[in-house]
Amino acid sequence: MDTKRIIIAIDGHSSCGKSTFAKAIAARLGYIFIDTGAMYRAVTLYALENGAINSGIVDDDMVVRMLDEINIDFRFNPQRGASDIYVNGDLVEGKIRTIEVSNCVSAVSSIGAVRSKLVAMQQQMGLRRGVVMDGRDIGTVVFPEAELKIYMTADAMVRAQRRYKELVAAGDSVTLEEIYENVVSRDKADMSRAISPLRKADDALVLDNSNMSVEEQMAWFMERYEEVLSK
Ligand code: C5P
Repeated sequence: MDTKRIIIAIDGHSSCGKSTFAKAIAARLGYIFIDTGAMYRAVTLYALENGAINSGIVDDDMVVRMLDEINIDFRFNPQRGASDIYVNGDLVEGKIRTIEVSNCVSAVSSIGAVRSKLVAMQQQMGLRRGVVMDGRDIGTVVFPEAELKIYMTADAMVRAQRRYKELVAAGDSVTLEEIYENVVSRDKADMSRAISPLRKADDALVLDNSNMSVEEQMAWFMERYEEVLSK
């Protein structure tokens, strides 16, 4: 008998390893992994490159007018074992995680029309199930009926140090202080925005991975997953 294919929603604070975790789960279960943060980052990058963000100030109306010209798609990259994100056919995966994009993405993602467009796309992508999706509103808004919801968090300094190492390894010149500032201010913005703020769904399981290895997180996950399947 085929194993039931479910929807796994992973939400939580910035830079706590949601995507790494989601990607590992997807590889383990043969599921599709969708990084919804990459979609908000891709819209932000487009807005930055096309004059809708100047000196860090987002022109909401201009972003809304641009939405119809932004076509986002994911294409599987076997080398990474995950999908790369494209905007209007251009590969932007390597450009969306810079500090410039990180500093503007919460403002762009608080625009209602941006959220409606991306949420509709995400719901479409989950129709066939067998999906692990990570973001801020997956268990509350995108898939409130997801069978397994995880709310991830970790100490803010631990998160900043992890993100700092990634960016330095990628050749970015950043300071730990600016990364910490960004992590804390994005959490605040994402939790206090009017539309779909980050919050733990009532039925989500909390995973604080401040002191957990990837292997420990996976063992924790597999127990929960087996429980859901056996119901
Ligand atoms: O997950 P990541 O840190 O890449 O997400 C970048 C930003 O995109 C978040 O800080 C948040 O502002 C926004 N986001 C969102 N809803 C999602 C995923 C991301 O608002 N489902």
